[in-house]
Amino acid sequence: MERLLKEAKGRIGLFGGTFDPPHWGHIRAVIGAADELALDQVAFLPSPQPPHKHNKVTSPYSNRCRMVELCLPLDPRFRLCLIEENGLPGTTLETILKLRRDGFTEERCHLVWLMGSDSLLDMLEWHKPDELLKSVEVAVMPRSGFPAEKAEARFLQKVTILNTPLIEIAATKIRNGEYSLSEVVPPQVEEYIRKNGLYDVGESS
Ligand code: ATP
Repeated sequence: MERLLKEAKGRIGLFGGTFDPPHWGHIRAVIGAADELALDQVAFLPSPQPPHKHNKVTSPYSNRCRMVELCLPLDPRFRLCLIEENGLPGTTLETILKLRRDGFTEERCHLVWLMGSDSLLDMLEWHKPDELLKSVEVAVMPRSGFPAEKAEARFLQKVTILNTPLIEIAATKIRNGEYSLSEVVPPQVEEYIRKNGLYDVGESS
């Protein structure tokens, strides 16, 4: 795989998620974040079993990674990072510490953890959120229905709220067949979902 995150160089955005499936909401927001923060690389980090989504059934990790891989040609800055592959590290803080140990040190590169505003509003439930905010810059992409200003004041002081476009797409709604698939995911992801019968998405239009 050519587009794995390998180079600990420049400004690197890290975008963790379930990506079940990756959709235009993720892609457009993260392109906006890369522009606004002048990032050189943006790595998608699919999570095998996100700690705060333990009650949700997700598609197999391999399917979700493949769908992310299919999105990589959409922007030259996009990379895939499989650091969470074997379930360890299990939390975002551990992921950052492992990346630092793997050579992604502050001397060599600047890491920015990217998240949607729904994740910021959930942050109290994250593992050691204050330590996480000390370990890495966090930038937040607004999502409608999740007003960032309602977040804990001590978190708000430490994060950057971005001006990325508001795109009202949620993966849960895709899995529930609430959209026309071709409008919410790139064509190559749509094809993969249909071929593999991943969700109850109806006929192609
Ligand atoms: P689900 O509906 O399954 O919870 P999701 O659409 O929120 O999924 P995830 O893979 O859980 O997608 O999200 C990964 C990251 O992307 C999270 O930080 C989330 O806040 C962010 N994100 C998801 N959708 C959007 C969107 N439309 N705009 C901006 N950020 C988003």
